[in-house]
Amino acid sequence: MEKTFIMIKPDGVQRNLVGEIIGRFEKKGFTLKGLKLINVDHAFAEKHYEDLSKKPFFNGLVEYIVSGPVVAMIWEGKNVVLTGRKIIGATNPSDSAPGTIRGDFAVEIGRNVIHGSDSVESAQKEIALWFPDGPVNWQSSLHSWIYE
Ligand code: UDP
Ligand code: MG
Repeated sequence: MEKTFIMIKPDGVQRNLVGEIIGRFEKKGFTLKGLKLINVDHAFAEKHYEDLSKKPFFNGLVEYIVSGPVVAMIWEGKNVVLTGRKIIGATNPSDSAPGTIRGDFAVEIGRNVIHGSDSVESAQKEIALWFPDGPVNWQSSLHSWIYE
């Protein structure tokens, strides 16, 4: 089953949005397969965002991610990468629809509360970086109530 990497950024943790955000993925029907609260250092944040290293906002982005603990998660489900991005909303909260996490809880692009993998390939890369021991092995007993 498809997996994605979701991270609640330091502003989301500081603003007490952890429970709200986890609840949205849970209630959708996706399954939590990894979870940790962690402070990352500059080198780790740079590695996570290495594809953006040439962007003018890169240094500010790295400072943002190291500014406090983040909640790193693996979520599993059918089409969870793309659907997770829809639940999160557009990168710039000015463009994120109401009802999405960024649309409901964020104002500025540099404080947009949450990260989600943008493809199955980047999800695999990000899960390997953040969870070297891999996902937790369990199956939800709700499976047959969510999937036909
Ligand atoms: N970002 C920023 N300024 C920009 C574009 C992006 O500060 O002009 C930050 C923002 O926090 C965003 C992150 O860099 O979430 C990663 O950018 P990406 O384009 O990958 O957006 P995402 O995949 O997070 O929607
Ligand atoms: Mg991205």
